[in-house]
Amino acid sequence: MGHFQPCKGRNSESPREHGGRKRLRIAIDGPAGAGKSTVARKVADILGYTYLDTGAMYRALALKALRQGLNPADEAEIQQMLAATDLDVELAPDGQRTFVDGIEFTQDIRTPAVSQAASDISALSVCRHFCVDLQRALADRQSLVLDGRDIGTYVLPQATVKFFVTASLEIRARRRYEEMLQKGENGNYEDVLLDMQQRDYNDSNRALAPTKQAEDAILIDTSGRPVD
Ligand code: C5P
Repeated sequence: MGHFQPCKGRNSESPREHGGRKRLRIAIDGPAGAGKSTVARKVADILGYTYLDTGAMYRALALKALRQGLNPADEAEIQQMLAATDLDVELAPDGQRTFVDGIEFTQDIRTPAVSQAASDISALSVCRHFCVDLQRALADRQSLVLDGRDIGTYVLPQATVKFFVTASLEIRARRRYEEMLQKGENGNYEDVLLDMQQRDYNDSNRALAPTKQAEDAILIDTSGRPVD
């Protein structure tokens, strides 16, 4: 891995953590399947910082909505659901655990149905505010490596360093498809590609905080590149 150059100028900040170490917030944004979480986990591991998967929050809310038979795109229904929702993430060194109303959702949020519902629910401003408040509160308390869609542009515009990680749609779909096969799941490449294309479109065209490269983010195209 290369050396990081913290962003200069209006984005520089140097608050200290407990113990005097400089607090870092590393934002890694980009579309699905670009390799964000793999890279974010590795960077966090190398630097000894905590990794926060922000997508898990939208996924957890989407799964609660699906289980309650709600439409994840219906603002009124979701607003009512959120008023009675307790979302919590535990940032353990061996991985993030996600809880809704005290019940662990960590595993169950990794299905194609939840991916699509997360994309719908995350377009609602009431849902974005709910998740972003929690993300900012977590980032206030500690150094973090965060991955998402809007970390560098909206959640933490003052992040220490920002990356926008992307790859071609075909390569991202191929990676996701191979991941499914490895997990022993059924599915076909065409469906994965179409789902991903739909999710890219939704996430990049929503009104509030769409997927977007921040002006001061470093662009990394992972097509054909190894993780290191
Ligand atoms: O990153 P992941 O694929 O788990 O995210 C699931 C969905 O959550 C995305 O398709 C996107 O709609 C939403 N999301 C978001 N903002 C983030 C992270 C995820 O809108 N910061």
